[in-house]
Order: sequence, then structure tokens, then C-alpha cells
Amino acid sequence: MSNSYTLWVVDNLDKQNLNFQTRLVHGYDGDSQTGATAVPIYQTTSFAHDTAQEISDIFNNRKAGYTYSRIANPTVVALENNVACLENGLGSVAVATGMAASAIAVQALVKSGDEVVTGNSLFGGTYYMMQELISEHGIKINFVESTDVDAYEAAITDKTKLLFCETIGNPKVDVPNIKAIGDVAKRHGIPFLVDSTTATPYLINLKELGVSVSILSATKWLGGQGTTVGGLITDLGNFKWSESKSEKVVKISKKMGGFAFIARCKKLRSNMGAALGPMDAFMLTSGIETLALRFERQCNNALKVAEFLEAHPDVVSVNYPALASHPQHDVAKAQFKGGFGGIMCFRLKDREACFNFIDRLKLVKNLANLGDNKTLAIHPDSTIYRDLTREEKDAAGAFENLIRISVGIEFAEDIITDIKQAIG
Ligand code: PLP
Repeated sequence: MSNSYTLWVVDNLDKQNLNFQTRLVHGYDGDSQTGATAVPIYQTTSFAHDTAQEISDIFNNRKAGYTYSRIANPTVVALENNVACLENGLGSVAVATGMAASAIAVQALVKSGDEVVTGNSLFGGTYYMMQELISEHGIKINFVESTDVDAYEAAITDKTKLLFCETIGNPKVDVPNIKAIGDVAKRHGIPFLVDSTTATPYLINLKELGVSVSILSATKWLGGQGTTVGGLITDLGNFKWSESKSEKVVKISKKMGGFAFIARCKKLRSNMGAALGPMDAFMLTSGIETLALRFERQCNNALKVAEFLEAHPDVVSVNYPALASHPQHDVAKAQFKGGFGGIMCFRLKDREACFNFIDRLKLVKNLANLGDNKTLAIHPDSTIYRDLTREEKDAAGAFENLIRISVGIEFAEDIITDIKQAIG
């Protein structure tokens, strides 16, 4: 292994024994030179070196160090170490957005002619990314019913390079059995990639459930303040990349060993120019400290809102995993710790009723984000999912009469009062 090994290693492995809530606050150890407890913002494009040999050694992976912020930046590395520690992972790669995280993680493993099996309950942007792979890169994407474990297995062929799903489908709010799908992936020797943006490591321990790679849009609950877009790819250390069916990763594993996937993602981040800025990494690192406090409150508030909606005569149906009426309530109960998340959806009579509801909201914001401290609502069919066919929209859960809510940290009764007056 080269001297640059230290660049790939999580430097706070000792912290992985601490409880999750403690790791949120102590993931960054402070700056040993100045004693600063908040991560310093290295707002610089480049890093100067004394000799030509030194910068060459760093570029050639013979020595650890920094050269250019598209390739690596210390503030960004601090965020990566922090998230890897939260996920009990081998290492994380921070990228510009959640979309960059899923695009890079998938493209790290596929080439033209390959196949992917994915649950069909996906965030709209991820759906578009998968469609792009089909039409422009000759990759076959097999969409299966997200919660149907057997369907994943049935769709696997000798060309399949990965399985993919979301922990709580956005906006369908369905809950696939992660352990069971992970077992299918394991039996077939292929990695299982899970977008866990809606659950975050607070609700679910993906490593324990056998997942290979966790993908997070840090824009949502992780950062939490609604200020910063960013994404994280974390190798959970469950998959042996030297035995992968993705030739490129196998080749890299000869040099990088178990860090092959992380190395491949870092290379793609650099090649695609999808680096996260240092200021954004700082904002996200600050947000992470309060994840548990915020999410606990959001889960509690969400349950109250869901119960209110379920009892309302004008609400056709409510989908929230804490409710006994949720189709995967038992899976969610077994799989999640400390709550059922902050996202829910509900259906009104028709599209007009949805638009009227949104227009009448006073406190709840009508916008396209999730995981903010503020409660948010949107009509996914006419916004995020606009480019899908009716059939694709329905498969993803973006029904014409559906509203998606992301519950914030306000006083629950105030959220309910606003929703009540808006339903009319
Ligand atoms: N994954 C999920 C589940 C999302 O909800 C989103 C955005 O809403 C993304 C990924 C994409 O994240 P970003 O907007 O940070 O690119």
C-alpha cells in the first residue's frame, strides 16, 4: 500500500465505539494546532509545496497531502470522516449534492451493457439519472416493486452489477426490507447501494443490515438547516471489492485493497468536477451535531400530524410508517430505531384539492426540499416528477392527488392548525 494510505483511512475509528448521539458531537476532534473546536474552513483552491518532488509524490499517491480542492480539501475530509464514523463505515466521499452521490456511486460500478436492479420508488432526480443511464450509456435498468424482495432476485442476471433502493421511498413512503434485499445481493455476489437520505443513520444502521454502500443527500436531514446542498457516499465495509463483477473496481483493488470503491468514487468526483466546497462542508458538519435532537422532534411531530390526517374526513389516505395502517409497518418497526422519519404523504380528493390545500397554507412552506427545521409541503406530480409518464409517476408514488409533507421542529399543534385550515 502506498504512503497515501492515511488519506483513505477514517482517522476517528476509536470513536465508533461511542453511542450515536455522542459521535454526532465528537466526530471532529478539534484542530490540534490552534485548539479550535469547530472545523476550520480551508477556503482555498490549492495547496503550495516546497519542492517539485513533494507535490509530485502527492499527485502520484506516494505521500499523503493536499494539492487542489477539486481533488481533496481538509474541511471536506473532516466531514467525510465524521459521516464515516456515524455510519461505522470504512470511509466516505463527500460530493456537491445528493444527486452527485447516487450518480457517482452507481457509475463507479457500471459500464455500457451492464444492468442495474432498482426499486421503483425513487426520488424524481434519481429516476431521471437512471433514465439517462439507459438512454445515453446503454445500461439496462430493471425497475422492480421496491418492497418486493423476490422481485429483486428475479430481475438479477449475469450482467447485474448492483442493487439499489431507498430506505423510505420518496414520495411513496414505502419501506423495503433492507436486510432481506441485502441477503439477496449477498447470495448473488453483488453490492447493495441504499439511498438512506430519508432515514439517515439516526434511524437505521445500514452496516448491521448488510448494505454495501450508503448514499445520503446531506441537503436534507443530515445538514438540516435548509442552507446547503451536499451528498455523501459511504463504503460500509461489507463488500469485498476484489471479488466484484465491476472490472474497474477489481483493477483498483489490486492497488488500493478494500478502499477500491472509495478510490473509484474519489476519482469520479474529480473527473466530473462534483467536489463539495469547504464552506458547504463546514455548514453540513455543523448541522450534523444536532441531527438526533432535530430528528427525534421531527419523528414525534410527524406521528401527531399523521394521526390528525388519518382521522380527517377529507383525507383519502395517509402513508406514514408509524401508523398501523402502513403496509410495511412491521418492517419499519423492526428496522428503524428511535422513530419513523419526518416524511409522509397523504391523498386528497383530486389535483384541484391538492392545489387549493397548498395555496391556503400559511405556516407550512410550499417548496422542493426535505428535512428542514421548517415543515414543508409539495405536490410532487406537478413539480419534481413532471417529466415522468403517468404510469411511471404512479409506480414511484407521485399520484395526481398526493401531497408530500416533511415535518419540521415547530410546536406540533401549530403545524396541525395550519394543515387543518388549509384542508378547509
Ligand atoms: N435522494 C433522495 C431520497 C432525495 O429526496 C433527494 C432530493 O430530494 C436526493 C437524493 C437528491 O439530493 P440533492 O437535492 O442534494 O441532490
